Amino acid sequence: MTSSASRDGSPGDSVTGDAATRLAGSFGFRDVAPDTKSGLVRGVFDSVAGRYDLMNDLMSLGVHRFWKAAMIDWLAPQPAGRFLDVAGGTGDIARLILERTDHRAEMTLLDINAMMLDRGRSRGLDEGWGRDISWVVGDAEALPFAPASFDYFTIAFGIRNVTHIDNVLAEAYRVLRPGGRFLCLEFSHLALPMLQRAYDTYSFSVLPRLGQWVAGDRESYVYLAESIRRFPDQATFRDLIGRHGLDQVSFRNLSGGIAAIHSAWRL
Ligand code: SAM
Repeated sequence: MTSSASRDGSPGDSVTGDAATRLAGSFGFRDVAPDTKSGLVRGVFDSVAGRYDLMNDLMSLGVHRFWKAAMIDWLAPQPAGRFLDVAGGTGDIARLILERTDHRAEMTLLDINAMMLDRGRSRGLDEGWGRDISWVVGDAEALPFAPASFDYFTIAFGIRNVTHIDNVLAEAYRVLRPGGRFLCLEFSHLALPMLQRAYDTYSFSVLPRLGQWVAGDRESYVYLAESIRRFPDQATFRDLIGRHGLDQVSFRNLSGGIAAIHSAWRL
């Protein structure tokens, strides 16, 4: 499942280019003007921020914790590293990196949504890890950091929500130092087609009801299910990553492809 980058106008380029364009113009299943998408996404996370962590546990029955742990296992963080967690939300990935490096990592967490960050920061301060993180409000598509500032770039369940995925991947390349590591955890596409029906029932019937019941917000969880279906499959996303100079792109499926981790290096 490894690919070398296709930066030479190969046929895969039109498929990946189409995928990026489709994402920019869609909010779940709705076609939207790309310049309205980030406002719509912001509304989702403003609405769910207070119940975000609880909902993650409930809707995945805690499985998101195993996926995030698998990401950190593959990352194998070195304690002295400079880490950037993009779209870091309430801090799960940053916390796990800190724990794995005995709090020696130089950890920066960036998110566009101040409410998600506030939620994470107050949770982190209560639990004792929040002060080891530099919390930055910013846009993954235009990072406020100098080139080659980081050894590691992580993004978990964030890239599906941005408008221009190409900009994020270009920014990942720019802020990583040569030899730096890119790791992305995201919902993906089932590798076991016989599970599709049950998964669709869960996604489009159970999930919105759970969202309404726990977070008082049905629509945000409809968006979640729809945005997952709109996100490129594992191989297309792998090729998209490869278009931006990142190398040795590979992926691992989690839970039969419900989620996947994509890994790459800036060489
Ligand atoms: N990484 C966290 C986790 O795994 O629990 C949070 C993931 S949450 C599903 C998605 C996050 O992406 C939200 O906090 C949202 O504000 C953030 N986000 C969406 N668009 C963004 C952008 N353009 N730049 C930075 N963060 C963004």
